Amino acid sequence: MKTVYHNAKVYTGTLPLVEAFAVEDGRFVFAGSEKEALSLLSEGDAAVDLGGSFVCAGFNDSHMHLLGYGLSLLIPRLDQHTDSLWDMICYLRDWVKTEGPRGGWIVGRGWNQDYFTDIRRMPNRWDLDLVSTDYPVCVTRACGHALAVNSRAIELLGLTVNTPCPEGGEIGIDEGELNGLFFDNAMGLVNAATPNPDEEMLRDAIRAACRSLNEYGVTSCQTDDYGKDWRGVNRLYRELEQSGELTVRVYEQSNFDNAKDLQEFLDEGNNTGVGSDLFKIGPLKMLGDGALGPRTAFLSRPYADDESTVGLPVFTQEVFDEMISLANRNGMQVAVHAIGDACLDRVLSAVEKALKECPREDHRHGIVHCQITRADQLEKIAQLKMHVYAQSIFLDYDSRIVAKRVGKELAETSYRWKTLLDSGVTVSNGTDCPVELPFALGGIQCAVTRKSFSADEPPYLPDEAFSVQQALDSYTKAGAVSSFEETVKGQIAPGFLADFTVLGADPFSVDPNTIKDIPVLATYLGGKKVFGKFSA
Ligand SMILES: [Zn+2]
Repeated sequence: MKTVYHNAKVYTGTLPLVEAFAVEDGRFVFAGSEKEALSLLSEGDAAVDLGGSFVCAGFNDSHMHLLGYGLSLLIPRLDQHTDSLWDMICYLRDWVKTEGPRGGWIVGRGWNQDYFTDIRRMPNRWDLDLVSTDYPVCVTRACGHALAVNSRAIELLGLTVNTPCPEGGEIGIDEGELNGLFFDNAMGLVNAATPNPDEEMLRDAIRAACRSLNEYGVTSCQTDDYGKDWRGVNRLYRELEQSGELTVRVYEQSNFDNAKDLQEFLDEGNNTGVGSDLFKIGPLKMLGDGALGPRTAFLSRPYADDESTVGLPVFTQEVFDEMISLANRNGMQVAVHAIGDACLDRVLSAVEKALKECPREDHRHGIVHCQITRADQLEKIAQLKMHVYAQSIFLDYDSRIVAKRVGKELAETSYRWKTLLDSGVTVSNGTDCPVELPFALGGIQCAVTRKSFSADEPPYLPDEAFSVQQALDSYTKAGAVSSFEETVKGQIAPGFLADFTVLGADPFSVDPNTIKDIPVLATYLGGKKVFGKFSA
């Protein structure tokens, strides 16, 4: 049985727009004119009138953390209470009263002190003591690279100013006392003690994240979820695939921080591309440095607004070399988080060495974020035929802080995704959710406008703006390229998986500053509706 969707404006992946398409057995079988589409209808087929809506391939968020996002939906949502420090404290106090602690702790995520309108600094232990002195409280910054705990937590964990700080981390101290802040690898001192979610909670988290992603029009994601138990994560995804509850296609960015674990992973038969259309092993993912907001991205020079730091390198050159070489010679793809240019230097050097040692024609190794860059590095990325996983939605916040953090000179050569595109690099898009919401249309808007959502600000390097088509492609076709699936998904064309998103307006024709306001009307995965209206 076929279903013909008609009376629409359809972006197939090439222009011009067409009017209709048809789906059979989970795949597109036709895209073209209204007349032709309707002529395909025979006995038992269905027709769906899309009422003039816009349709494109389902969005592909090419770097995020699905499990982390799902869990964040089940715990205090600080991203919605980060207008002021006081708002955050009051919200958490209410949570203690109404929901109570889970596993003995109050754990929340999503604050960003740059959005606080009362006190512009990170929350500390004394602020969080206002939430509770009975229960330990731990709140993680939106970026995931810093957290704050209250005095009860410090006491329970037995931490003192003499606690050794793990390499690649930082422990906050004020006037000889722990202030409750922990950065990057030092966060492990706290995270090791906070209660682990049980399996049922993890399952609920994946379900909640899938529902939310579908509401944003997302049908595919490339997600970094492993933590300590990669086997458990794979098992959960496969279970939910079997029970039909996985309504987003998952390409797992397999995060490892040492060669021994990676070797074990490979030895058990895991490698890039292993799996099904719904759950597949992706690249080796490495988390190379921190983030710009908390000044932990690893720069080649001191921060312009804090001369005392260059950020935090998470891995030495030797560890990058060893792991990237191991993945490369085993035919595994590699995707490394690099926000600062000094981190990027190490990654590019490791990739170059690995490819020299074991050349591969179509490796699709990539840089996740690729934010603070120098011109020579952009050339190197193109020369090594690497992929870039951009998060244009970061411009909503970063456009206000980049020059402050890294200085004018580096800022001028950063976030240059159009330059990369023009040099032949594929640039896919995403949100690093839960750092940002999985707000694909917001990301598309930022890629086009190069500025924050508040329209009164000037754009950041406007020459680097994508056209609407390039922005849509970064969220569809390019995402499919980064998972070696460009012949399977990302376009509305015969033979492709019928993943598509129905929008309330045409992004090509609205004011670019309002793309984010376009409603997602419905989302379909393999021809099945997973969100919204219209029924077949
Ligand atoms: Zn990430």
